[in-house]
Amino acid sequence: MGNKCCSRRHDAERPPVYPHKNEPGFTTCPVSFDTRYTGEPNTRQPSRPPVDVVRTTTKCISNGGRRVVKALCEYTARADSDISFHKGDRMEVLNSSEPDWWMVFHLTTRREGLVPVNYVAEESSVECEDWFFPHVSRKEADKLLLAESNPRGTFLVRPAEHNPHGFSLSVKDWEDGRGYHVKHYKIKPLDKGGFYIATNQTFPSLPALVMSYTKNALGLCHVLARPCPKPEPQIWDLGPELRDKWEIPRMEIQLIRKLGQGNFGEVYYGKWRNNIEVAVKTLREGTMSTQAFLQEAAIMKKFRHNKLVALYAVCSQQEPVYIVQEYMSRGSLLEFLRNGEGKFLQFEDLVYIAAQVASGMEYLESKMLIHRDLAARNVLIGENNTAKICDFGLARVIEDNEYCPKQGSRFPVKWTAPEAIIYGKFSIKSDVWSYGILLMELFTYGKIPYPGLHGKDVIDKIEIGYRMPKPIDVYLPDAIYGLMLQCWDAVPEKRPTFEFLNHYFESFTVTSEMPYKEVHD
Ligand code: AMP
Repeated sequence: MGNKCCSRRHDAERPPVYPHKNEPGFTTCPVSFDTRYTGEPNTRQPSRPPVDVVRTTTKCISNGGRRVVKALCEYTARADSDISFHKGDRMEVLNSSEPDWWMVFHLTTRREGLVPVNYVAEESSVECEDWFFPHVSRKEADKLLLAESNPRGTFLVRPAEHNPHGFSLSVKDWEDGRGYHVKHYKIKPLDKGGFYIATNQTFPSLPALVMSYTKNALGLCHVLARPCPKPEPQIWDLGPELRDKWEIPRMEIQLIRKLGQGNFGEVYYGKWRNNIEVAVKTLREGTMSTQAFLQEAAIMKKFRHNKLVALYAVCSQQEPVYIVQEYMSRGSLLEFLRNGEGKFLQFEDLVYIAAQVASGMEYLESKMLIHRDLAARNVLIGENNTAKICDFGLARVIEDNEYCPKQGSRFPVKWTAPEAIIYGKFSIKSDVWSYGILLMELFTYGKIPYPGLHGKDVIDKIEIGYRMPKPIDVYLPDAIYGLMLQCWDAVPEKRPTFEFLNHYFESFTVTSEMPYKEVHD
């Protein structure tokens, strides 16, 4: 595996300067509010320290040294070794040496067992608060808050994207002529501890600040009415027994309905132990060597990010091999855009999807992994337009001739960078090229790239400098088309980083295109 792993690494080169954009759309409040952009580099998670490191409450653990966690939501046990709990239940931590499952003693049911770590938080930490969203970006905050069921004044607090010690308060608001929208306020730390939004109102802790604004708007657009409902935490394993092993018995998987036909076999919606929803990819015999696939899957399983589809388990003892993955309810981005609800997406939704894909790719870039087959068909869509990248690394182990660059018609020529087609030189920069093509698919609602051209002609034309023209029948700002052209730079090193691309789309708002004055209450 060592070799394979190493050969997948790309040179950790960065093009010289890709300045971060400032954050447009941040709400500035009445005079006394200090919401200036701090100009600090992007420090979004995962580089940010865990929130309990930057403790924000004045409470402390006072259980005689015991470490007590509180349940963030309900959980139903999946095996003999884990325990069920309800939101708000308190549990004493007995062993926290494992990253995903902690051994606890339930203080009400008196049962001992494992619990998934991201379903609980230290009783004394700000993460226990219903309004605190530790891993949500600005765009995701918009998406969550704008859900129809949320009234005006629904809010959440999240770590700031540009200040490792600061936070942002996002509030759903409504105005005549503008309708529902979200306003974001910077919560700044005080040197001696505590926080403020407006310099004339300081608070000893985040909860104190939130509490105060729930009683009085004090210059905010609206009083904080109620915390935004939290989505279910991401689960990385099917259950605690599978945290180290991921070969599972085939009989534990029930195939329920066919979702589609992939390049390598059929894909099914199914359940694990008749309980947990999963997607099951079946690999046609001879598609790849099981050995090579398992090595690759072991790598894939190690890398986790909320914009990468989670790989749960495999059944590789018999053909066809099953790959058991996180289920994404809206299917592939391509199908979604062409035939699903994606046809009706607004421009901002497309930008949101572009940001999510770039975020997943930024993670792969930071781990020096390459995808090799980035395209709208390999992005999956879930509820609320969440997007996740799938099949990363799979292209590498395919032995199917039809998928092989030199021989077949199904090689994704239109998505592949010239240096990868001609010299087989795949890198994170060839992924950036593919991302540019994916952007074109996205903003044209799933149109085939280079319409009217055959793959072979595309290679010839690209080599002499031809690039896909800006489409005229869809809304595509010049700035975004310009970015696509940068992704298709003939010199790989001159293409942007995914870090830049993510930041670009995260901070791209309609306001940055068509500046208008933010209305302040
Ligand atoms: P693929 O083999 O990745 O090309 O998948 C074929 C089709 O199966 C896709 O177009 C999706 O509609 C569907 N599909 C694949 N993986 C998943 C998943 N994890 N969740 C939901 N649908 C999926």
